[in-house]
Amino acid sequence: MSNLPAVTLDGKEMSLPESAVKDFGQSLRGGLILPADPEYDDARIVFNRMIDRRPAMIARCAGTADVIRAVKFARAHDLLVAVRAAGHGVTGKSVCDGGLVIDLRPMKGARIDPVSRTARAEPGLTWGELNDDLQVFGLGATGGYISITGIPGLTLGGGLGWLVRKHGLAMDNLASVDVVTADGELLVASDEQNPDLFWGLRGGGGNFGVATSLEFRVHPVGTVLAGLLIHPIERAGDVLRLLREHVDTVPDELTWGVLLFTVPAEPPFPPPLHGVPVAAVTICYAGSIEEGEEVLRPIREFGPPLADVVEPMPYNIAQVGADVVWPPGFHQYWKSSFLTDLGDAAIDTITRHFASVPSPRTVVVVDHNGGGAIDRVGEDETAFGHRGWTYNLLISTAWAEPADSEANIQWTRSFWDEMEPFRADAIYVNYSSDEDDLLASAYTARTRKRLVELKRKYDPTNFFRLNANIPV
Ligand SMILES: Cc1cc2nc3c(=O)[nH]c(=O)nc-3n(C[C@H](O)[C@H](O)[C@H](O)COP(=O)(O)OP(=O)(O)OC[C@H]3O[C@@H](n4cnc5c(N)ncnc54)[C@H](O)[C@@H]3O)c2cc1C
Repeated sequence: MSNLPAVTLDGKEMSLPESAVKDFGQSLRGGLILPADPEYDDARIVFNRMIDRRPAMIARCAGTADVIRAVKFARAHDLLVAVRAAGHGVTGKSVCDGGLVIDLRPMKGARIDPVSRTARAEPGLTWGELNDDLQVFGLGATGGYISITGIPGLTLGGGLGWLVRKHGLAMDNLASVDVVTADGELLVASDEQNPDLFWGLRGGGGNFGVATSLEFRVHPVGTVLAGLLIHPIERAGDVLRLLREHVDTVPDELTWGVLLFTVPAEPPFPPPLHGVPVAAVTICYAGSIEEGEEVLRPIREFGPPLADVVEPMPYNIAQVGADVVWPPGFHQYWKSSFLTDLGDAAIDTITRHFASVPSPRTVVVVDHNGGGAIDRVGEDETAFGHRGWTYNLLISTAWAEPADSEANIQWTRSFWDEMEPFRADAIYVNYSSDEDDLLASAYTARTRKRLVELKRKYDPTNFFRLNANIPV
């Protein structure tokens, strides 16, 4: 091995002495991956295949001590740093060119206390892994809508998932977080300890440090009524109106929305539907099954679906239900915002654009977020400033071939532009590919001001800059 080419925090080229790299690698319990290593290419891949970055090294962190070693090494050498959990962030900021990736995937510990109903998760766990373990105790966490997303990135940005209307965002259920700061110090953030940091972590993402343990309040869930009511795409407008008709009256136990997508050729979808564009109502009712059937009755009476795959199931099985619609291995470009209204003009715009979708892997989502637990937390209680919106729109464009990138990105942007009259100036920080959108609309002005003050206090050199960055 010779000296290792790398990049400083400010993007300047540099060279890391061979002996320093060797010592660093030997200090890590989880080990260090370098470009010449056979596992390097697999280790640098993230969910969004548009991202193809080549870090100088990947520190496989086996525990908090490894994270501290990595932060201190990067500080000592003025090295650019990316923090990586499951690698689901669509902006791909969890991997960088020429810097050090702090890779948390080996940290998969979970400690569940069924008496106090809390779960402590290390940052390498996915939501599916944690909810699989929680299910053993009849417990569950909001998590995400799919199972393979990472816990820390999702939670520190907000966390929309299958229990969001009943139990709030994933981060609303945080009790405490262990954080390695830019100085390489370990702090606990909770209501009692470093409460300003705890406020900022809940919505401010990776700006303030590396979360090495997240403690959640979890809930008795057990069996839920979950799945999809799949209707022909020609009825997409009516399906969206069905959602609109019921948002003010459905109980908080129901977390639901509408998906427009092309049915993949996989179970649980029946073969005649494979390759067919559809409008589906997604359902997770977390309450008594009898009451859930009653709540669903008017939604089922809407008309005969092409398929009704809603049934009682364990919550952890419900959490994997949508995975098949967002498989790994594709290029991704996402636009999203909360909606000011879902009137007929908005619905027409959504259905008209979906009719010309260039890729069968693209999914358009209108979720009903509002009215439940998410709105019972005050605007200023956390750094997630966008409560009170009834609907969130997500255009998650995905395609296989790099040659199709331009057509897919253009389609997404023109859809987005036409939604302008119906979009709130409010974007969920974890759902957008474009930094300009995030800078403009991820936070309210009041929240942003507080976040800047906090960033100056906890990370004055902007060491943690590869994220939805709060510039100091
Ligand atoms: C297919 C798909 C489905 C999704 N579904 C949902 C959903 O249902 N609900 C939802 O709310 N979001 C969803 N998201 C968005 C998701 O919240 C973000 O992609 C999130 O960043 C993923 O978390 P991760 O831990 O995998 O992040 P990574 O991609 O590993 O990291 C993203 C960023 O998070 C920060 N970060 C990661 N780990 C830590 C840590 N330990 N400490 C501090 N900062 C850290 C870093 O800034 C990093 O750049 C989805 C994304 C995809 C691609």
